Order: sequence, then structure tokens, then C-alpha cells
Amino acid sequence: MSIKVTVWNEFVHEKHNERVKEVYPDGIHNAIAEYLKTQEDMIVRTATLDDEEQGLSNELLDDTDVLIWWGHAAHNKVKDEYVERVYERVMKGMGFIALHSAHFSKPFKRLMGTTCGLRWREIGENERLWVIEPTHPIAQGLGECVEIPADEMYGERFDIPVPDELVFIGWFKGGDVFRSGCCYRRGYGKVFYFQPGHETYPVYYQDEIRLIIGNAVRWARPVMKRELLGGIHVPTPIEKI
Ligand code: ZN
Repeated sequence: MSIKVTVWNEFVHEKHNERVKEVYPDGIHNAIAEYLKTQEDMIVRTATLDDEEQGLSNELLDDTDVLIWWGHAAHNKVKDEYVERVYERVMKGMGFIALHSAHFSKPFKRLMGTTCGLRWREIGENERLWVIEPTHPIAQGLGECVEIPADEMYGERFDIPVPDELVFIGWFKGGDVFRSGCCYRRGYGKVFYFQPGHETYPVYYQDEIRLIIGNAVRWARPVMKRELLGGIHVPTPIEKI
């Protein structure tokens, strides 16, 4: 069965900032989708904030196994009722991958329950992304580390819950470190936060970064989709008591 992936992007910087337009002329979502579309086990669609229902219609979400999210300038424009739609789908089994500045996106904050604040610096320093769990499915096909020539620095402390699995730690030339690849289980769904990908650097064209995102899609695909139990349940005992 193919994995149905939806790459959601607010698609704001690419329209208004010349530098970003140069790097991602068709938008970050299409740069990511372009790679995922080469994967035989994936059916890939894109959605943006300007689409009908902000690209988050019930029809689309019901037909999505893994939702990838990139946002930065327009987090607050995403309607709360649509955020709830995303949250509920994750509870029922949909995978959610938050990229870079999506650490402050409404769905990611809703799923984490913390401020998701961090320290940042944008001077184009190089990053070394260390693979600290080489046996993890998301790290397959990588060496000991991935060299990113230039990216925005994200540094600790990152106010997230302790990850269920930490796959990558990012080191930046300026001396900071960051939990750059974090896995969570929420309800029946899986969540992956991945730090690289500031809009002015061509990070999403880099082979290893694309490989990681593809691996993350496969890892986050639903094992099952079902309703979470709500309210109070008093099950009948299995044994006679
Ligand atoms: Zn950024």
C-alpha cells in the first residue's frame, strides 16, 4: 500500500522575499514533494495556506497518512479549528512531520503541550548533524554525521517534552547544540521534529536531508487508524472474579 503524503507549506516567504524566491522558486513544499514523488511507495500532494480551508480540508486530511508541515511567518493565521483537525487525525494514527520553524506552528505546539521555544542565530554557520541512533529507521542510509554547509542555528534549550527517541543532535560552528531529530508517539500517531531547513538556504535539495525526510515519512506512516477511547470506560473483567 502506498503512503499518502501531504506536504503543507504556508508559502509566504517564497512569494515576498527575493532571496527565498531564488532558492525555492516553486516553494519549499514543491522542493520536498519533488523528491518524495520519486519514491515508488509514496503518493504525494501539496497544500498551502491560500488553498481552500487553508489546505486542511477534512477530505484531504482523511486521505493523508503523513502530513509534513513547514511554516514560519503565518503560524497565527492558521485557524484553530483546522489545527484541531490535524491534532485529531494524529490521535487516530496520522503521522506528522514538523520541519524547522514549524517548532512554533500551532499543530506542533498542540501536540507537544510546551512552549517549543528555542535560541536561534542567523549568520549562515555550518551545522554538523550527528546521527546518535544509527539503528533507527530514520537514520538509514546515512554515515556518522551529515554536513550542512549553512543553516540557521537553533540552540538549546529547546522547550519540548523529552523525546521518545532522539535520532539527531545538531552541532553548530558557533558552539551551540540542538536536539535536531526528535520522535514522539501521540495517541495512535507518530510525530517527528526535524530542525534543518531555513528558507534562505538550499537545505531541502541536499541528498541526505531528502533521504531523512523520506525515511521519516515511512517511519511515521500509520500502523493503524482508529478512534481513541474518550471518556470513562469500565471494561468487563476477562476472568471470573
Ligand atoms: Zn528559519
